[in-house]
Amino acid sequence: MKRRTSLGLLALLLKAPDTLAAGSQASIVAVRVWPATDYTRVTIESDRPLAAKHFLVDSPHRLVIDIDGLSLSPGLRELIGKVKADDPYIAGVRVGQNTPTVVRIVLDLKQAAAPQIFTLAPVAAYQHRLVFDLHPKVETDPLVTLVQDHDKPPAAARRAEAAASAVNDALEELIQKIERPAPPAAVPAPPPVAAAPKPAPAPDPKPPTAAAVDRLIVIALDPGHGGEDPGAVGPSGLKEKDVVLAVGLKLRERLQTNPNIRVLMTRDADFFVPLQDRVRKARRVQADLFVSIHADAFFTPQARGASVFVLSDGAATSAAARWMANKENAADMVGGVNVGAATKDANVLRALLDMSTTAQIKDSLKLGGEVLGQIGKIGKLHKPRVEQAGFAVLKAPDIPSILVETAFISNPEEEKKLRDPDYQDRLVDALASGIAKYFAKNPPMARKRSATL
Ligand SMILES: [Zn+2]
Repeated sequence: MKRRTSLGLLALLLKAPDTLAAGSQASIVAVRVWPATDYTRVTIESDRPLAAKHFLVDSPHRLVIDIDGLSLSPGLRELIGKVKADDPYIAGVRVGQNTPTVVRIVLDLKQAAAPQIFTLAPVAAYQHRLVFDLHPKVETDPLVTLVQDHDKPPAAARRAEAAASAVNDALEELIQKIERPAPPAAVPAPPPVAAAPKPAPAPDPKPPTAAAVDRLIVIALDPGHGGEDPGAVGPSGLKEKDVVLAVGLKLRERLQTNPNIRVLMTRDADFFVPLQDRVRKARRVQADLFVSIHADAFFTPQARGASVFVLSDGAATSAAARWMANKENAADMVGGVNVGAATKDANVLRALLDMSTTAQIKDSLKLGGEVLGQIGKIGKLHKPRVEQAGFAVLKAPDIPSILVETAFISNPEEEKKLRDPDYQDRLVDALASGIAKYFAKNPPMARKRSATL
């Protein structure tokens, strides 16, 4: 008994420094890992801000992070089990109490990485976040991604293997055209999307102004949100980020059944992409169109129907459109942008985003009108016309860009439809038809070289 008392006293004495420091000790709320080819993010959410130092070690590559004011806890240990075997960057995680107040996390890396470590203040449902982003040493070029997506085995069985070499040839051509200015119009190819080719015209030479499509069309598809940013969440728990990714991937497959079309996904997995990066990726591949896919919530569960938005160069066309733009533009706050790293090209980006977008908006309205017309055939529209507001993701000055709110996920009926693969297919059909109709009326011009960022 006496022994236990003294042990108890000893424990109390040993605990004393901890007790004194209790005011500055953080508790872990959650740990999350978001693996992706672009970059892998590790988030440690805590009830108070965490201060971390880090260093890299070579052979083998490791990232060592020391977090001050923290004790090892089961919550933090969960990190070990959250790293998946196929994570492109992290091979494994070790955590230990390095000193009484410092926890050390060692990330064993699969490749040399350029880490970004930063903190995020509480926002939306999140408390304080400490974020480690593991980027590749050399940023993946979206153009390369575009090519690699085609080198993968075809997703659908119907794609014959014989088609693969044709696709590769076409890609070779695409790359050459992006690398150098498009040659003068030569042999006209069939219209880009329309199913039935028109009767062959007489073989007399075309005037140089003929908008002959002799090149591939690149479409940027942008599933909204992702990773730390779930977007809106439906009454039964369906997340906007998941449903828009599913629709985006289906739409890619649908569009690419046309051999003249290549699709760049701004994200093809569950990770967060800052709004400016979405625009930058589309510009890097000189996309002909940019389609951002969403399924948002509204205050009242009664709100229903699809909407299509384009950029406004002045005031929004309605209070609801302005509200929606503000909501979408807040994605960076929830998703978590490393402001320190982003500011280095802030001036260039600001100049880009402020460029005159009059022509872009004109084309975007045409595209939006076609898409709205097709979506109206499969369900209710929220508003019968294309709305305009200052959406940050629609600001590529040279790419017709629309943001489609496919439905209100906050409406229980629409949430159910969004979850239904058949409805997703109908939605994909409508989006693809709208895009096809736009190209039928507005064939793409010869590709011009433009500044890339
Ligand atoms: Zn959204």
